[in-house]
Amino acid sequence: MESFSAAAKNEICQLPLDDCCVMAELCAITFVCGNLSISSSGVRMCYNTESKAVAKRIFDTLGRVLKLDAEVIVKENTLKKKNTYTVAAKDAPLLLRTLGIEGNLLTDARPPAYLVEKECCKTAMLRGAFLGGGTVSSPKKNYHFEFVVNSESFARLLRKLLEYFEIMAKIIRRKNNYVVYLNEGDSIVSLLALIGAHTSILNMENVRVLKEMRNNVNRAVNCETANINKTVNAAFAQLASIRIIERKIGIEKLSDSLRRAAVLRLENPEASLRELCELGDSTKSGMNHRFRKINQIAESLSKEDLP
Ligand SMILES: [Zn+2]
Repeated sequence: MESFSAAAKNEICQLPLDDCCVMAELCAITFVCGNLSISSSGVRMCYNTESKAVAKRIFDTLGRVLKLDAEVIVKENTLKKKNTYTVAAKDAPLLLRTLGIEGNLLTDARPPAYLVEKECCKTAMLRGAFLGGGTVSSPKKNYHFEFVVNSESFARLLRKLLEYFEIMAKIIRRKNNYVVYLNEGDSIVSLLALIGAHTSILNMENVRVLKEMRNNVNRAVNCETANINKTVNAAFAQLASIRIIERKIGIEKLSDSLRRAAVLRLENPEASLRELCELGDSTKSGMNHRFRKINQIAESLSKEDLP
């Protein structure tokens, strides 16, 4: 099964390459995973990645959008059952000039200011850094998102861009690299939303709600496990939906009856449907109907793109 990171990268690579932000994205990719290599035909820029989708996106950007010569080299690794892809741009100096990068990529170079002026391009810069050198761990394990970069000045720039979007990150040194990382569920969700990994967020929210519910269940005493599990499964889906609605439009946008049901569920995460009906003075079929609507709304919202 593909990792959580790989799934997020695949998803992001489906986003259209738009003219405005494509340079910012490639610029970030160049900072995090571009390597200069000297060959008989001159200096090339090589991008190494394990993601086929990322390799294709870099290749498309170079060729179709920037009209620069490039090729893809696939290395099979039968032991790890993973391929590595190298996208090689043939004329590195021309590429760097096109992107407006001056200085040494590993130390003092910075992207040109105009590439991070607009909000959409700031986002694209973060997206590129994730595609080229980011990982996000499966929420089933722990909450951890990181960018691994060579250059300290680029690490600082990433942290500044994140701060602009009110996402707080830390930087640590790891061997020869700088790691910009986040370790809080909420900020990771914000970042994934920003860079367009919506399905990944949905998966993450589901796991998060399940974790919270399990914690609650662990605290509950004097209850039969079987009963709790049944309640948890129903409540878990409802809470996940309510959270999505809260984040996307706010629950106050729901109709009165749906909002009352949502608030009731939020205030009583462990209650069974029967208990909710008693608390909300409603019939079982009425309550069921409301949660079905809530689930539908959440589903359609999570399919929409964020602005
Ligand atoms: Zn832009």
